[in-house]
Amino acid sequence: MKILQCFVSKCRITAVLLVFMTALFVPKAGAAEPLPVVVTLPVLKDFVAVVGDAHIRVSTLISGSESEHTYTPKPSDLVRIQKAKVLFQIGLDLELWVQPLIENADRPNLPIITTSKGVSLIEGGLVDGHGHGAANPHIWLDPQNVQIMIAEIKKALIAVDPEHRADYEKNASAYLQKLEKLEAELKRKVAPLKDKRIITHHPAWPYFAKRFGFEIRSNILTQIGSAPSAKKLGILIRQIKKEKIRVIVSEPQLNQKIPLILAEETGAKVVPLSPLTGALPGTDHYLDLMRYNVEALVNVLEKVQ
Ligand SMILES: [Zn+2]
Repeated sequence: MKILQCFVSKCRITAVLLVFMTALFVPKAGAAEPLPVVVTLPVLKDFVAVVGDAHIRVSTLISGSESEHTYTPKPSDLVRIQKAKVLFQIGLDLELWVQPLIENADRPNLPIITTSKGVSLIEGGLVDGHGHGAANPHIWLDPQNVQIMIAEIKKALIAVDPEHRADYEKNASAYLQKLEKLEAELKRKVAPLKDKRIITHHPAWPYFAKRFGFEIRSNILTQIGSAPSAKKLGILIRQIKKEKIRVIVSEPQLNQKIPLILAEETGAKVVPLSPLTGALPGTDHYLDLMRYNVEALVNVLEKVQ
């Protein structure tokens, strides 16, 4: 009998312990778990992570090594979209592949936040294919546009997760200050240059050029995925020689052959810049990417002044 009593009381202790441990390790309702967020581009991942910090867990559909115009779906993308509380995109017809993905994931009510809302747009995207809308979608390459995008991201995170409003506001305003400081710093680097003319790989750079004072004389590609014709190449070569343009921008996401041919034919220098974070070393974050792009371009332009 004594043995039995002892056994029962042991059980009781074990049970109490179990309840106690469960209370310790299972999160309380409504607390803790970071908000699952999906974005279309790596640069949006950086922005959402900056504003959301520890309260969110963000993943991007496109990686930095792919072009923002071409998306290769992975089976894991559907799972991520199924779990997401909110999705952020650029809009302006850049991510035409998002809607079918959301239909396949059966998430008709997933909130989709278009971060280009309120940005002053520049006309002229790609002639054909994706991103063929009237407005150029590469808005994030102007840090002043990013200020508007950050405000939109902050608003959306507060709407989904009002509990952490104060943190989202604090993070967003700290980042706005960094953006302003960087813009001023980079403008000072560009200012001494006299010749700021460039040829770019595809029409990703009009917002960037406008903000920092570079002059895009032509684009190698007007369509992603197809090489320019021999005729178009001939026109480009004649233009570069005639106007004495000394710098060609190439992009790591696109085929390097054509910029190299143009450089060989004209003596112009090629400088790789990236519209997306994570494709070139040391550019995992937007602020570093912008510094890299401006400094690399200034460095090569300085040599040919
Ligand atoms: Zn593009």
